Amino acid sequence: MDSHSPASSPREPGAPAAPGADGEQGVLLPIPDPQESARLLAALPTEQQGSQPFRSGFVALIGRPNVGKSTLLNQLVGEKVAITSPVAQTTRNRLRAILTTPAAQLVLLDTPGIHKPHHLLGERLVKTARNTIGDVDVVLLLVDGSQPAGRGDGFIVELLRHCRAPVHVALNKHDLVDPAEAEALAASYRQLLEGRGDFASIPTAGEQPNPPLSWPLHPVSALTGEGTEALVAALTAELPEGPQLYPADAVSDQPEQLLMAELIREQVLSHTREEVPHSVAVSIDRVVDDGPRTAVLATVLVERSSQKGILIGKGGRMLKTIGQGARLQMEKVFSGPVYLELFVKVVPGWRRSAARLAELGYRGE
Ligand code: GDP
Ligand code: MG
Repeated sequence: MDSHSPASSPREPGAPAAPGADGEQGVLLPIPDPQESARLLAALPTEQQGSQPFRSGFVALIGRPNVGKSTLLNQLVGEKVAITSPVAQTTRNRLRAILTTPAAQLVLLDTPGIHKPHHLLGERLVKTARNTIGDVDVVLLLVDGSQPAGRGDGFIVELLRHCRAPVHVALNKHDLVDPAEAEALAASYRQLLEGRGDFASIPTAGEQPNPPLSWPLHPVSALTGEGTEALVAALTAELPEGPQLYPADAVSDQPEQLLMAELIREQVLSHTREEVPHSVAVSIDRVVDDGPRTAVLATVLVERSSQKGILIGKGGRMLKTIGQGARLQMEKVFSGPVYLELFVKVVPGWRRSAARLAELGYRGE
């Protein structure tokens, strides 16, 4: 059950890269003979000549709900590390996925969809997203590129306008785009960034208009993987030189219990309708790793007893379906048998209680 933890304490976003990572052994190398080096170099295939130094760093994934952030993480990392769902705002916690290529290691931070906050939970989500932006090496703004740019995209662009890190824009869902429409769609995003056309602002008296932005646009499909290789190359070029921060086979440093809770929440979302999803939270109460099997006790928290009724279902059938689905997902992710016991508890108004939010791990640090 350790496969998702980093081997050594990794560099936090913003902290300087530590040269000479943990456990590195000093090795004495012979002093290179420049003539011999030149001869060896000339014999290499061209793409390896002047080979690039290894790079590592943090990439913040920013985007409105449902643009495909989680799908992209899964596509890039090739394992189920983030939760995807057709229901908006499934991802509440910052989740790191780790992508190791021959050239670089990218630590990806999945952030909750940025939107205008409606209540306390929403404000926390936005705060977490803003803090994530502050510390990273590059920001990847993901948009639904199958739709023309809209006002909601403008809100995020304004939020990112002053961030220190370079910003790249992925026009996702390219698989849904009719090739004849592709240019017009890309043009609408260029207009948005440059503040032209529909997005031309009327500067108020004495105010300078915002300078046009020239963030690179990358058409991709998180679903099929189309364009993602070029995207990763562009992001890699923005990272500083640095050592590998995590083992090459690590995919996420998300604490396992958060991942378990997210897998349960995903099942709740996929088996219930609108009346439940936004007021559900999952707490993992106990995990017992007794040899070959992992036993998990978890509670689904809802706000109203009517929701509790829906979740339990006739004769407990709904809860059984949710539990079975979550168990199967856990067994895939943790590669081993899982015993899952689920409870449902009514906690009125939990969304408004900051203390409870903190307890449940929704950090707004
Ligand atoms: P998030 O809220 O930004 O994390 O979005 P998700 O990754 O959960 O995706 C939302 C929905 O869009 C899901 O139904 C995905 O299957 C779908 N989706 C994501 N990326 C693509 C894509 O590239 N093409 C298509 N056709 N659908 C996508
Ligand atoms: Mg998501």
